[in-house]
Amino acid sequence: MSYLTLRGINKIYPNGYHAVHDFNLEIEKGEFIVFVGSSGCGKSTTLRMIAGLENISKGDFLIDGVRANEKGPRERGVAMVFQSYALYPHMSVYENLAFGLTLQGVDEDVIEQKVYKTAKILGLTDYLDRKPRELSGGQRQRVAVGRAIIRRVDIFLMDEPLSNLDAKQRVTMRSEITQIHRETGATTIYVTHDQTEAMTMADRIVVMKEGYAQQVGTPYDLYFNPVNMFVAGFIGEPPMNFINATVKGGKLNIKGNVIDLGAIADKSVIDGYENKEVAFGFRPEAIRLAEGNDTGDAYRITCTVELTELLGDNTNVYADIQGIKTILKVDPQETPQIDEKLEFAIPYKSVYLFDKQTEKRIKLRAQ
Ligand code: ADP
Repeated sequence: MSYLTLRGINKIYPNGYHAVHDFNLEIEKGEFIVFVGSSGCGKSTTLRMIAGLENISKGDFLIDGVRANEKGPRERGVAMVFQSYALYPHMSVYENLAFGLTLQGVDEDVIEQKVYKTAKILGLTDYLDRKPRELSGGQRQRVAVGRAIIRRVDIFLMDEPLSNLDAKQRVTMRSEITQIHRETGATTIYVTHDQTEAMTMADRIVVMKEGYAQQVGTPYDLYFNPVNMFVAGFIGEPPMNFINATVKGGKLNIKGNVIDLGAIADKSVIDGYENKEVAFGFRPEAIRLAEGNDTGDAYRITCTVELTELLGDNTNVYADIQGIKTILKVDPQETPQIDEKLEFAIPYKSVYLFDKQTEKRIKLRAQ
């Protein structure tokens, strides 16, 4: 049996707004789960229902197989870290860390031991006498994380804990949180709108949109096997390219570039889409620049270069296929010239097709 079960969870706010629809998830002990999606998709609401800060309108929440809907946050054994760190400004780091335990009447000796142990995990040992204002944003966030982990709870909930940090601090804290998770082994649910955070930190990701979970899977799964256009476009940076086209005689004609779908899908599948619109998808990093007679197992498309961005490890090429905009990632050594005509190849195995009507992925032969 799973450690945490969310079964048919719904949230309808008192004003009638239905924020979360039929959310189902089984979480194993020690897993690091990330809820990801754009602002307003219901991530925090779901997390707050798990925390016991928001009541569940419909559905069951189980901890270790026991219904916990009616239990308060403390009884659930959860600790939560929020976006704003909410440290006590007049207290030192030591006192901030110790505060919750002091309230619980824990022995001073035990508190001291726990504070030092937590400070060590978080690299805060040298800062215990400082006040929050004397710390960097990253250090303050570490104290906030410390206040949560010092209680040694089984379930650790984090709501956009890194969004107040600058880009560099975020990258550092990302790996620190992963490290802390490894050390504490606490089951963790982490909310973010940032797909990079989700991809780098999660054991499994839940992609949400407008109150519905779209897909649950490992980062690898979501990247290589997205179930629909939303997940395909959300995971990956720059996002997947989508080109809309109508199937005619089993082929797509993308501004004179003929894509014979027979190379990637069975006839029975293609026939079902005759005269229907599909989205032809490929990731910017999946292409290669086509050289003269390079025809092996790939579609070739001709475009015109509009803009290039040299990023160091690669170059983003913004290209135009007679009015259709695409982004390609190329080796910086192969950065093309603006206005250059470019032919690129998309390996068959890197092509995705989606039903434009349902936005669901169409099963291809190799996938
Ligand atoms: P996210 O965390 O993904 O940004 P939230 O879970 O905070 O999204 O919110 C989901 C939706 O529920 C949003 O449209 C938000 O406006 C709405 N919402 C949040 N809190 C309340 C509330 N107390 N009453 C009514 N609607 C709310």
